Amino acid sequence: MKNRKDIIINHQFENKYKSGYPLLHKEAINNLGDLKQEGTILRLTNEKGEFLGIGFYGLQNKGYGWVLTRKESEEINKEFFQRKISKAIENRASFYQSTDTTAFRVFNGEGDGIGGLTIDYYDGFYVISWYSQGIYTFKEDIIAALKEVVSYKGIYQKKRFSTDGKYIEEDDFVTGDRGEFPIIVKENGVNFAVYLNEGAMVGFFLDQRDVRKTIRDKYAKGRKVLNTFSYTGAFSVFAALGGATKTTSVDLANRSLGKTIEQFSVNELDYEAHDIKVMDVFKYFKYAEKKGLSFDMMILDPPSFARSKKMTFSVAKDYKNLLKEAIGITSKSGIIVASTNYSGMNMNKFKGFIDAAFKESGEKYELLEEYTLPDDFRTTNTFREGDYLKVVFVKKM
Ligand code: SAH
Repeated sequence: MKNRKDIIINHQFENKYKSGYPLLHKEAINNLGDLKQEGTILRLTNEKGEFLGIGFYGLQNKGYGWVLTRKESEEINKEFFQRKISKAIENRASFYQSTDTTAFRVFNGEGDGIGGLTIDYYDGFYVISWYSQGIYTFKEDIIAALKEVVSYKGIYQKKRFSTDGKYIEEDDFVTGDRGEFPIIVKENGVNFAVYLNEGAMVGFFLDQRDVRKTIRDKYAKGRKVLNTFSYTGAFSVFAALGGATKTTSVDLANRSLGKTIEQFSVNELDYEAHDIKVMDVFKYFKYAEKKGLSFDMMILDPPSFARSKKMTFSVAKDYKNLLKEAIGITSKSGIIVASTNYSGMNMNKFKGFIDAAFKESGEKYELLEEYTLPDDFRTTNTFREGDYLKVVFVKKM
């Protein structure tokens, strides 16, 4: 049996939860001291004792837990999870039907009604990600619910939370076939090698699907492309397939070299015709400037925060400078694809950075198009910050 606690919501926040806001903030809880064990079911009331909702205690960098229902009689059990997962799957019917794209998000946390839980689909395999110890305490019911609503080759899981500051590394395998990795999935007809058994990352960020397609279909042709923070080179592969004259991928991590070669190879592209550099992006900019290199397409997709031996990077502090460096080596009429998944900044503020970077560089630009999360990454109107992705295509004039 799960622990249960009554939680009193501070009157200042009452209306927020009444209108469906799902995240439990520390400041909103009057009796914080009562929260002891993650996974405890919380019954929320206002200061007068009137019912507001039912949720659970789960610590994430975002908050203290999530509201699951505003129906007082609704039980949080296997049937509850089954209803949520079934509904989520119904919403992805068109994705399941596609033969062109075989990797997508099936369940997107609070956007599908359960904060801290995501489920991704990779050609018959499912990967469950748990973002707090709290949601992980429901694992038996959630896995049982998933098994009842889908047919699967295998199920894997990723624990994206830490206990005592340490990430628990266990076998990620849950049930079914173990699969032989990499498995090759498709995205808009392009092959991608994914590993479900290699820790937190599978090698592929599903949320950039529409951006990759746009790069391939509308912008890459005839362009010389620089892909910074390239990871496994997904943007480079799409650019190359779209007819880029050459791509250069730059990432600090040693593993990025072999992984990028692999992604080119599974698409029968000659990786030797492209450059793959294991290098700090900011060093690369200096090098490119010194050599007088310039590019007519520039992709910027840094992590929200990064720490290397010599420096730290944070989107909030450094994105404008990153843009200025990029603008400096982008040719006239070149395209800059500026992306961030930092949830602490909205689209307007992000566009403000872009504007400031061009102004300070003494250059003009034209805004071409912008992207947020794709349809399978469902978000809810009651939690706008859940739509964390911001991608802007601009043309240097
Ligand atoms: N654009 C990628 C995802 C980027 S993930 C894609 O589409 O798949 C962020 C990457 O930035 C990581 O691979 C990390 O190794 C790299 N990185 C972080 N700091 C860096 C730096 N200063 N220079 C180069 N790469 C960096």
